[in-house]
Amino acid sequence: MTDQTHTIDIGWNFDNSYSELPDLMYTKQDPAPVRAPQIIAFNVPLAEALGLNIEALQSDEGAAVFAGNEIPPGALPLAQAYAGHQFGHFTMLGDGRAILLGEQITPQGKRVDIQLKGAGRTPYSRGGDGRAAIGPMLREYIISESMHALGIPTTRSLAVVATGQPVTRERDLPGAILTRVASSHLRVGTFQYARGAGTTEDLRILADYTLQRHYPDADRGTDGNRYLVLLQEVIKRQADLIAKWQLVGFVHGVMNTDNMTLSGESIDYGPCAFMDTFNPSTVFSSIDSQGRYAYSNQPYIAAWNLARLAEALLPLIHEDEDEAIKLAEDALASFTELYYNHWLAGMRAKLGIFHEEEQDEALIKSLLGMMQKHGADYTNTFRALTLNQPEIAALSGTTEFDSWYTQWQERLGRQEESETESRELMRSSNPAVIPRNHRVEEALEAAEQQGDFSVMERLLSVLANPYAYSPEQEEYAAVPPESPRPYRTYCGT
Ligand code: AMP
Ligand code: MG
Repeated sequence: MTDQTHTIDIGWNFDNSYSELPDLMYTKQDPAPVRAPQIIAFNVPLAEALGLNIEALQSDEGAAVFAGNEIPPGALPLAQAYAGHQFGHFTMLGDGRAILLGEQITPQGKRVDIQLKGAGRTPYSRGGDGRAAIGPMLREYIISESMHALGIPTTRSLAVVATGQPVTRERDLPGAILTRVASSHLRVGTFQYARGAGTTEDLRILADYTLQRHYPDADRGTDGNRYLVLLQEVIKRQADLIAKWQLVGFVHGVMNTDNMTLSGESIDYGPCAFMDTFNPSTVFSSIDSQGRYAYSNQPYIAAWNLARLAEALLPLIHEDEDEAIKLAEDALASFTELYYNHWLAGMRAKLGIFHEEEQDEALIKSLLGMMQKHGADYTNTFRALTLNQPEIAALSGTTEFDSWYTQWQERLGRQEESETESRELMRSSNPAVIPRNHRVEEALEAAEQQGDFSVMERLLSVLANPYAYSPEQEEYAAVPPESPRPYRTYCGT
């Protein structure tokens, strides 16, 4: 390496393709240095997969990079421009506190964004301070890594550094920066922005870029309308993603169009949480007073967001607007069925069912209906069925459940696959643990208030293999102690 300041080779292999997009799509912006960076969370397996030097990153050099105090060789820091519908209202947004260092090309040839979240003000900060507090950044680290372990497409978390500087929220809180890894940060809102602020040519360049990055095979087997294919492919990935959320009881909390990716990864873990008691109208976010982003609304909101993407893409889909609208509407119409089929397939697997029978839907719905009626824990009901311990399910003892259980056993008896195979399918489809709210809060409190990260580390290690059904996971499966108030999450920006 020629640069004398970089004595150790960390393994950075940056490319900066985003900076080749039209100028209106971003602003070059260096992170603002912080006082005393200290690594408080570091993801060794992810660093390895990225081709990075673990030891070097765990030193002061790593802390300096994760804090934005030192720009790694080859990086070209920038803030991305985007817009978005927030709770239904269109707004100009952009990276107000996040800075993209560049795209790391991994040893496997994968291209991933390396982004510092909480790295200082940018031209898109509006009234914000560009900073983040330790709690929300560790929260994103825990939840994103747990989602990944659950097999759900997601952005990931490489590190969190404490900045040594307070951030002012309702009170002063210790500041932190999260290093986020994403297959890209292209959002529905990125297209809304390009459509509104740019020319059709700008929009085409952005769409071509997205196709190349996420759907390189899009041209194959079509009549050549690659932009319609882009829309169709995003619809497919989002249908799959949202079904996966529903199947594990995940509530995102802020499904604004700027928080929905073109890659199909979950992004922007703010006031999100996993549902304990099964209740379709579950809302966690303190700012979602209308329940717009409630659990059962998530598929509808996804479809609504995808319609916003379709609108942005119209000029590329067909030069005749009426024709473009018709093509887009046909594509959007497929979402519901795609989503539902993923969900149904996932539910069959959760019940150990290998093939389709028409009555499966009724069997599934009847279970969910009982769970709702009796306030059963979502994760633990499936866990109890998986462990063949129906007696530990909250529903047990009711005649309704006994009769359902018999029907289910008869259903399993009608398939060729053995009981063992069925149980294996259930084990790989029903997590033994999820990041329960009280466990996450407990970990964050220890970190924030005592500087004790061991609680979080233990939680992370249990969540890293959610389908293991190991003895140490048992205590983490326990439902939260009775609380008089419903659990609320705060944006905590
Ligand atoms: P989010 O709620 O994280 O999706 O963020 C919504 C918008 O607010 C994005 O444009 C963020 O960059 C911006 N934002 C959030 N927090 C801050 C902050 N502390 N300073 C500046 N901008 C922020
Ligand atoms: Mg966002």
